[in-house]
Amino acid sequence: MALDPDTLDQLIDAVRRFVEERLIPLEAQVAEEDRIPDEVVEEMRDLGLFGLTIPEAYGGLGLSTEEECRVVMELGRTSPVFRSVFGTNNGIGSQGIVMDGTEEQKRHYLPLLATGEVIGCFALTEPDAGSDSAAVQTKAVKDGDEYLLTGTKRYITNAETAHLFTVFARTNPEEPGSRGVSAFLVDANSPGITLGTPYKKMGQQGAHVCDVFFEECRVPQTIIIGGPDLVNKGFRTAMKTLDRARIHLAALAVGCAQRLIEMSVEYAVDRKQFGQPIAEFQLLQGMLADSQTEYYAAQSMVLDAARRRDAGERVNMLASCCKLFATEMVGKVADRAVQIHGGAGYIEEYAVARFYRDVRLFRIYEGTSQIQQTIIARNLIRDAS
Ligand SMILES: Cc1cc2nc3c(=O)[nH]c(=O)nc-3n(C[C@H](O)[C@H](O)[C@H](O)COP(=O)(O)OP(=O)(O)OC[C@H]3O[C@@H](n4cnc5c(N)ncnc54)[C@H](O)[C@@H]3O)c2cc1C
Repeated sequence: MALDPDTLDQLIDAVRRFVEERLIPLEAQVAEEDRIPDEVVEEMRDLGLFGLTIPEAYGGLGLSTEEECRVVMELGRTSPVFRSVFGTNNGIGSQGIVMDGTEEQKRHYLPLLATGEVIGCFALTEPDAGSDSAAVQTKAVKDGDEYLLTGTKRYITNAETAHLFTVFARTNPEEPGSRGVSAFLVDANSPGITLGTPYKKMGQQGAHVCDVFFEECRVPQTIIIGGPDLVNKGFRTAMKTLDRARIHLAALAVGCAQRLIEMSVEYAVDRKQFGQPIAEFQLLQGMLADSQTEYYAAQSMVLDAARRRDAGERVNMLASCCKLFATEMVGKVADRAVQIHGGAGYIEEYAVARFYRDVRLFRIYEGTSQIQQTIIARNLIRDAS
């Protein structure tokens, strides 16, 4: 544990109160306006939410993976769009630096990311490199002590508000696959960067995603994560970052499932048909029981994988197991929640309709369910041979 148990309990209590008192009441407004109020972002900063996973030495809370998951499960009880404000700073937007950055890079960027003064984002996906993320085509051409970046990054979360992009670009054109890619810490104000129009999404209104275009964007070579030793090794950094991020996302799915189950039980106890609460019907109880069982299984496996990661185990396969199971689980729980609400479940006034759309993304980004399956199988086969 990175925090003493009392401090962790206090943090979890504070996050729970913030979720209940501040965020849940704002959910419908944020979805309607497609915008999170600035004062809420400020309150997130005050709570330390931007620096949950950044080591204390660099101004963050330095939570262990298990502690992070416990906090994130609380945050999952509200619309996942709120988490996306600081999600990248704790995950894919900072962990590359935490894990592989030089001391100078850590000292420079991490304190700014921890306070939320700098928003980070992660630019890996491209129009022709989605699931096949090693097929990165964005070029980084060396020019003296600098590189010129040219290419398009697709569907980048928080690109609009980000100050810092972790960009994966090919530094060795002779190497077509994962070797030959480096990770660059690019200042969003660098000349040669333009942003596309934000995409209209199925859900998670309030979080914005757009393309990022690099046109001979000139950057110093010192911004390669890890310095000269990690030139052409950036893809490994991306994959290590995703291991932690996938456990984080699985924890978020667990939190969302908890909220969906709470809403389902409350509705089922209240709503009467055939002269009795619908909660009395065994067919409905079956749906509640299946959701609770799957939620509990996902929660248990996420906490187990988190503890193993904290103990130093290699968790590449377990992180994928967690992401696959928990994100598929919350999809089923959301579907049952809509069913339990009947017609009301299809009406926007009830939060289940929004959650149903919001959680759909979890099975797609940071590696689709099919990609998690391939990672799990690949690990099994490699270990057997
Ligand atoms: C809202 C949103 C936010 C995002 N944020 C970010 C971000 O911040 N940074 C970033 O870099 N990316 C981001 N992404 C991109 C996301 O990670 C990709 O969309 C995702 O990895 C899938 O890639 P793709 O869309 O190209 O789908 P494709 O790779 O084209 O996949 C299409 C289908 O084919 C399947 N498939 C592909 N290959 C295989 C295979 N080998 N075996 C079996 N099935 C396969 C997939 O599972 C899927 O079902 C975001 C996407 C969205 C929608």
